[in-house]
Amino acid sequence: MTFIDFRSDTVTKPTEEMRQAMLTAEVGDDVYGEDPTINRLEALAAKILGKEAALFVTSGTQGNQVAVLTHCRPGDEVILEAESHIFLYEGGASSALAGVQTRPIQGLRGALDPLDVKKAIRGEDIHYPYSGLICLENTHNKAGGKVVPVQTMKEIYEIAREKDVPVHLDGARLFNAAVALGVPVSELTQHVDTVQVCLSKGLSAPVGSILAGSQSFINEARKWRKRLGGGLRQAGVIAAPGIIALEKMIDRLAEDHANAQLLAEGLSTIPQLQVRVEEVETNIILCNIKETGLSNDQFLSKLKDAGILAVPFDDGIIRFVTHREVTNDMVQTAVETISGIL
Ligand SMILES: *Cc1c(COP(=O)(O)O)cnc(C)c1O
Repeated sequence: MTFIDFRSDTVTKPTEEMRQAMLTAEVGDDVYGEDPTINRLEALAAKILGKEAALFVTSGTQGNQVAVLTHCRPGDEVILEAESHIFLYEGGASSALAGVQTRPIQGLRGALDPLDVKKAIRGEDIHYPYSGLICLENTHNKAGGKVVPVQTMKEIYEIAREKDVPVHLDGARLFNAAVALGVPVSELTQHVDTVQVCLSKGLSAPVGSILAGSQSFINEARKWRKRLGGGLRQAGVIAAPGIIALEKMIDRLAEDHANAQLLAEGLSTIPQLQVRVEEVETNIILCNIKETGLSNDQFLSKLKDAGILAVPFDDGIIRFVTHREVTNDMVQTAVETISGIL
């Protein structure tokens, strides 16, 4: 059975062009800095993200955690949004690896209120931890792919700089935010010190993320990546599709956003489902299924039997994600099928 797979944009497979690029990639030993394809990817990523330097890392989680490790010392406090990926979904790595304490703050639609950030930054007191880092997330996954406004990021960065606290951006889906806003991604990254972006989500590369920042930050991050066992050898084989991801796969995210609108509109016409179409800003749709009387598991297993995959997100909330391998026709089929089931 072939499924219409709305579980995540991580399921996207490399394109034919990416596979060819892998086959013919020029490679060397990246731990010696000698892999020309990795070097090309890192230079390209730094340029696009408007930072001095960039580092290829194995995953978004590794990129975020290398950032925490590089910015902080054990005992520091990291200010982040209460439903952020770093707080919810990285296995407590910040505490386990960096020895930091997290300070979750409830945001609105994924965005931290700059005044709340200001209040959370610690003053001088012998009892307090140091405020080591502020983390933002854009787009915000748990909030349903919400775009954090440029103005909010700008205000938080101004406060952070005044207090000398660095800002890291978990931009796993930052290109979705940039495409939704119709701005170059550097317009967003100018308001943070460091950023992590995933190549392996909507951009369709098979593996990897980029961590970008100042040259001195990346030099230290490279050492942390090595300590974590993330120093790779002929990594050009997996960097080659990353270059295609950055050169050719960003603009097409608009199609995923259009399909997300279509899916949201379709699902919202089904009486037992609640979808706030106006809240779908990128490629993530949150669907409230409580009125179906079904549990998440029951609902998802009925969908699976009919060839549709999605994931549970919260009590009575199912997440659908659109991506390159979900076509317009598949969205229509999915809506008709789900309507039929209910
Ligand atoms: C997917 C994701 C990550 C982690 O990426 P992995 O490559 O799966 O480790 C980090 N942050 C956000 C917001 C994500 O959606």
